[in-house]
Amino acid sequence: AARDAGGDCFVQYSNALNTRAQERLALEAQLRHAIERNELELHFQPQQGLTDDRLVGFEALVRWRRNGELISPADFIPLAEESGLIVPIGDWVLAEACRQAKIWSLETPRKFVIAVNISPRQFHHPSFLRRVTTTLSESMIDPSFIELEITEGIVMRDVERTIELLEDLRKRGLTLAIDDFGTGYSSLAYLKRFSIDKLKIDQSFIRHLRPNSEDAAIVQAVINLGHHLGLSVIAEGVETVTQRELLRAWGCDEIQGYFYGRPLSADKATQFIFDN
Ligand code: C2E
Ligand code: MG
Ligand code: MG
Ligand code: MG
Repeated sequence: AARDAGGDCFVQYSNALNTRAQERLALEAQLRHAIERNELELHFQPQQGLTDDRLVGFEALVRWRRNGELISPADFIPLAEESGLIVPIGDWVLAEACRQAKIWSLETPRKFVIAVNISPRQFHHPSFLRRVTTTLSESMIDPSFIELEITEGIVMRDVERTIELLEDLRKRGLTLAIDDFGTGYSSLAYLKRFSIDKLKIDQSFIRHLRPNSEDAAIVQAVINLGHHLGLSVIAEGVETVTQRELLRAWGCDEIQGYFYGRPLSADKATQFIFDN
């Protein structure tokens, strides 16, 4: 009887695995058609400069409208990354961000940077530089309107090639930021060799930010490190006025988070520009 029970357990376990594998396959098959079916959309989260409290830019965050439901990138970007679908999806995101930047540049004389997230497989794809260059020239925007966000994990893989690639991207006029800074394992020795513009402090250091806390020590150190390396520093996940004022007092350049604004649809982001 014990054996039978064990057998049932195995059957249940493997059924569960099959179900999950099948769900994954179904999701992947749907994601494969998401672009041509126009199911992807970009939302834009505003970023605030702390010297004059002005709107300085937006981070473009992708969503998937699947059967009417809005799916968060956390629920499909990993799958896109594993399956390789991130390459066409990443192309779409960059092209769409450029298209929106172009529209805003025609509607207002003010200048905003639009930050675009780049995933590891996308960055390390042999034709990444060519793809970015083509998209930028086709959209006819000034490349300095676009910022690429790459994580520490991305830049620490294949470091020598990455150093060259970052230089090439920057020569083309793009701005480069290290996203989720402090959560990865980037070596400080390499940081000075990477041709970047900005450090983006991860929200995990901001969430419980209080004066004289360990997070405060880390955040202040990152701000000073960035500034001594000639980089600007932005903090993400800022939800309260207290967090913003601490960051301002420590000389942080910019903030992004629910306190200043949630990710907005393109229409609402346009409204945000005119209200700010
Ligand atoms: P991320 O690049 O670190 O983006 C910041 C995430 O934090 C966003 O989640 C944003 O909505 C959320 N956030 C912003 N402010 C606050 C705040 O004040 N409090 C809290 N609790 N959260 C805040 P989202 O949009 O769900 O994106 C999650 C991740 O998915 C992003 O993290 C990024 O790694 C990835 N992602 C989003 N869009 C793309 C894309 O187009 N391409 C790639 N490769 N990855 C993307
Ligand atoms: Mg990001
Ligand atoms: Mg981030
Ligand atoms: Mg993050």
